Amino acid sequence: KKVGFAIVGLGKYATEQMLPNFKNCQHARIAALVSGSPDKARRLAAEYGVEPKNLYSYQNFDTLKDNPEVDVVYIVLPPGLHAEYTVRAAQAGKHVLCEKPMANTPEECQRMIEACRKAGKQLMIAYRAQYEPFNLDAIARIRKGELGKLRMITADHGRQVQPTKDPADAWRVQKKLAGGGSLMDIGIYSLNAARYLTGEEPVEVTAQEHSDKADPRFREVEDVIHFTLRFPSGVLASCTSAYSIEGVKRYRAFGDKAWLDLDPATDYNRHRMIIGDQDGERQPQLKEGNQFAAELDHMAECVRQNQTPKTPGEEGLRDIKLIMAIYEAARKGKPVKV
Ligand code: NAD
Repeated sequence: KKVGFAIVGLGKYATEQMLPNFKNCQHARIAALVSGSPDKARRLAAEYGVEPKNLYSYQNFDTLKDNPEVDVVYIVLPPGLHAEYTVRAAQAGKHVLCEKPMANTPEECQRMIEACRKAGKQLMIAYRAQYEPFNLDAIARIRKGELGKLRMITADHGRQVQPTKDPADAWRVQKKLAGGGSLMDIGIYSLNAARYLTGEEPVEVTAQEHSDKADPRFREVEDVIHFTLRFPSGVLASCTSAYSIEGVKRYRAFGDKAWLDLDPATDYNRHRMIIGDQDGERQPQLKEGNQFAAELDHMAECVRQNQTPKTPGEEGLRDIKLIMAIYEAARKGKPVKV
């Protein structure tokens, strides 16, 4: 029997990427929907074969505890709501898959970890790039030494945030719901990639930020942020994110023998890898995979086998702690040890 997921928040990412990908899962299925909009919930329930009795609102969310068809609560709400709904889901006796960024603060992340631990339930953060074949291949090549000794990483993520045009961007410029700006939402991909490519934890960060306060988008959250991470092996990562540039989702890892470029690195599909060295450049022919189904199936298997997910709450907490250190470094204009 497949593991049943209750999807909380039927916004852009849930409806455009995740709901359609359950059909590609071997172990996960949609068991319930939670929404503030009954019409939307009914329409999607009909489309995905969810029984009307398995539709919930934010008001009766806690009664999920009485529904044995739901094993996992998958939280696809703005980050400012992740802690509240994760804690409530754990208290309802459910495992939790929560979208990135994990929460607004390290304290909220700790509460989420503690609530799931106390309930004896798994907590996984939906870092889809860590289930995506090109990224996994890049990690494997680096570990095997294909680039020689890793020296530097550059990683950039950016796009135009459009709060007046795209409803999914409205919360992204509100500090209370988003926790921060481009760094929290997409710079986290640069940060997380620097950590999984090196397999190390940074010991020091520096940062600079620039936001045009005359642009109404950046009254509460940051636009451009540039940060560096110093790793114990000596690798330096130079990372950026911005909400005022055209789309970019790329990274490059430089070793003393070769470099590896993924561009795009963290998109939904059509990834591209190039490896270069003194003899020239080549493009390994990798097969595109379904990172969404892989992520959902991983959660389902962890629930079945009572195993800690590859990207548990602690992984989300590490990024949020580092993000706080990056903001501090930008504010103080000084390196911050972590
Ligand atoms: P969205 O605004 O389209 O979806 C959020 C949903 O939450 C909406 O349906 C909204 O109605 C609902 N909601 C409930 N209570 C709310 C409240 N008080 N205020 C605002 N909204 C409320 O946004 P999205 O882009 O789908 O993002 C949702 C989550 O998914 C975020 O955590 C985001 O970071 C994450 N996300 C992840 C990826 C990824 O690739 N892993 C991509 C996009 C978004």
